[in-house]
Amino acid sequence: MDCYKEVAGKRVHDRVGMNNNTARPIWVPGPVIVGAGPSGLAMAACLKERGVPSLILERHSCIASLWQLKTYDRLRLHLPKQFCELPLKPFPPCFPTHPTKEQFVKYLEDYAAEFDIKPMFNQTVKSAEYDHSVGVWRVRTEGSSKGETEYICQWLIVATGENAEPIEPEIQGRDEFAGPILHTSLYKRGEAYSGKRVLVVGCGNSGMEVCLDLCNYNARPSLVVRDSVHVLPREMLGTSTFGLSMWLLKWFPMRLVDQFLLLVSRMMLGDTARLGLNRPSLGPLQLKNISGKTPVLDVGTLAKIRTGDIKVHPAIKRLRSKTVEFVDGSAGDFDAIILATGYKSNVPSWLKDREMFSENDGLPRKPFPNGWKGEWGLYSVGFTKRGLLGASLDAKRISQDIEQKWKSEAKHLTDLFSYLNFSRKQALAT
Ligand SMILES: Cc1cc2nc3c(=O)[nH]c(=O)nc-3n(C[C@H](O)[C@H](O)[C@H](O)COP(=O)(O)OP(=O)(O)OC[C@H]3O[C@@H](n4cnc5c(N)ncnc54)[C@H](O)[C@@H]3O)c2cc1C
Repeated sequence: MDCYKEVAGKRVHDRVGMNNNTARPIWVPGPVIVGAGPSGLAMAACLKERGVPSLILERHSCIASLWQLKTYDRLRLHLPKQFCELPLKPFPPCFPTHPTKEQFVKYLEDYAAEFDIKPMFNQTVKSAEYDHSVGVWRVRTEGSSKGETEYICQWLIVATGENAEPIEPEIQGRDEFAGPILHTSLYKRGEAYSGKRVLVVGCGNSGMEVCLDLCNYNARPSLVVRDSVHVLPREMLGTSTFGLSMWLLKWFPMRLVDQFLLLVSRMMLGDTARLGLNRPSLGPLQLKNISGKTPVLDVGTLAKIRTGDIKVHPAIKRLRSKTVEFVDGSAGDFDAIILATGYKSNVPSWLKDREMFSENDGLPRKPFPNGWKGEWGLYSVGFTKRGLLGASLDAKRISQDIEQKWKSEAKHLTDLFSYLNFSRKQALAT
């Protein structure tokens, strides 16, 4: 019987760790990467560059599923392209500063083709556990048709993202509300809402942009702003606010850069508190650094709030059939509710190791820049709260680390084979 199996174009060994519950365990030479988003792709490319093979397991049937399946049509990269490119391949020079979603996906598809990355699709990782008795990771997946599979490897790289599952808050009276309630991960464009009163819950980048999109489709959007928020212009002084901040941070302390950003924002956008958007007491960069909360980069929503095309409301108290009651005692009638309430990591639901990732938020316990490496060959890429830039940093570090181990293992194997060969010759000679 052939003890090798074809997996994603590679011949992999099919022998280690027989298990009663799963058919045909598959031995993967090199790391298993969970997730074929930008982080997983960057990881596989960096490993390949260093001569280390890997296998990506992806639950959907395409790469970058967040971008392809769960984002709205008008989405562009929030940050300028030079801060979003993956290692080893810049964006094409013809791309605009903020590439569209389609352009970004095309870039990722070209990236996968260039580095010959062929993920195993429709493989949802249900559990991953380190088997101390053998010294390997056992990764169990559920496929769309083939049932369960067990992959066995020495290194496991978590690349399932900070945005793996939508967060839907509990809202009193939700079942009573007559209209649709959907998360932004299901929202594509405002066409279906033309002329309708739509309440968007959450004032991050997605919530603000969905409101603008609804305006452009002649809907009547309102925005629920529960917490304080920093809104900054996307560009200031003729350059990107993000790029300018990064440059200033090389010379000045964060507190000073924050003061500068707030001063220029005030001059360009006015006092956002007068529009119902109170600023947090900490500056935008300090807040991002401490809590990971990203400032909103305004792409035109504030102007629509100022003209009254978008109304601002405080937190929701409860829903009734057509009416939403707010905590300040006001109320309004709405036809639909869109939850721009963010995403969370799903790592605690499948990774059995409890050391590296927190059970509360599914993010590495060690803060940036030390969260990329755990015990027993466990790594994480893309959990830095620093977007694609952070993922690229992780991928480079991890590939360097694994390359050393891979090479020393290869040397051990070469030594072992030389020894066996020598012994065989000796045996034949005697
Ligand atoms: C609307 C929006 C706009 C954004 N804009 C920017 C931007 O401009 N710049 C920036 O740097 N960042 C931006 N981000 C952040 C963005 O999410 C990340 O930068 C990027 O997508 C992270 O890539 P990732 O591979 O880590 O995670 P993801 O893109 O989420 O990819 C993770 C992959 O893992 C798969 N997966 C999850 N669980 C399992 C499982 N159990 N088994 C198998 N596969 C699994 C998922 O299907 C997915 O394909 C934006 C995010 C959103 C939501």
